[in-house]
Amino acid sequence: DPMAQEPQDDRSPGVDLRMDIPHSARVYDYLIGGKTNFEADRVAAEASVRAWPALPISMRTTRTFMQRVVHHLAEEHGVRQFLDIGTGIPTSPNVHEIAQGIAPEARVAYVDNDPIVLTHARALMSSTAEGSTCYIDADLRDVDSIIGSPRLREVLDLKQPVALSLIAIVHFILDEDDPQGIVRRIMDELAPGSFLALTVFTGDTDPVGVGGVGREYNARGIPLQIRDRKESLAFFDGYDLLDPGVTLVHQWRPEQDAPRIRDQDIAMYGGVAVKR
Ligand code: SAH
Repeated sequence: DPMAQEPQDDRSPGVDLRMDIPHSARVYDYLIGGKTNFEADRVAAEASVRAWPALPISMRTTRTFMQRVVHHLAEEHGVRQFLDIGTGIPTSPNVHEIAQGIAPEARVAYVDNDPIVLTHARALMSSTAEGSTCYIDADLRDVDSIIGSPRLREVLDLKQPVALSLIAIVHFILDEDDPQGIVRRIMDELAPGSFLALTVFTGDTDPVGVGGVGREYNARGIPLQIRDRKESLAFFDGYDLLDPGVTLVHQWRPEQDAPRIRDQDIAMYGGVAVKR
């Protein structure tokens, strides 16, 4: 049983959460209002908010972008398979809850490299009986360990279209690690008709404030890269963007009754594209 080889949930032995240093998943959790974070994470989050007070707005708005995208892909494009990398600490609704709410047979493979996400992976396993989910403890930069994972192959049929979602993660991949190349290598493994949903952290709307956030993360050992619009568009090269293209996340197919959000409070571009 390949499942027995890897740790899967909170029974995992030997997981070191390193509560003494901030982790991006826990800082994000704190900023979107979650409870799965420690003192070091809250200190980092508060310093980042002092540098740029709009940060929690930007992060919460990114989370709702993810929800609209999954809903749109499942409802309007019939997507039934999702590969969500950089899942974060489970926050309902997660990808499978949205997708299976539309199509109970939907299948979701989750991937993250943070031990705290691993210890909470059980919450990502609440699949419908018709569908299925799995959790893979892997690094986005190690494409082979994701695509080659037996667990992924049990849940996803790579001969059928998959939506790859990379939400609020590529800013943790520095240019020296070629994030656009990593995305392309994963998309190359996916069938025609697959989708790419991705967000990019940007300072275009507030360079000084967002630059301050970058410095606070970097100073605490979380390397982070801020990108402009051109660098953001490069992630989608070779794929066909769905309307309305790459936008600030609140401008992407907003709901009718969405609260008004100011552009300068958003530091994230988002887009969805299809591989023909
Ligand atoms: N996608 C979620 C959470 C984003 S927080 C959402 O939209 O709400 C970013 C997540 O990316 C964190 O959980 C962090 O652990 C994960 N992450 C950062 N670098 C990673 C890497 N190299 N490989 C895998 N996961 C990574």
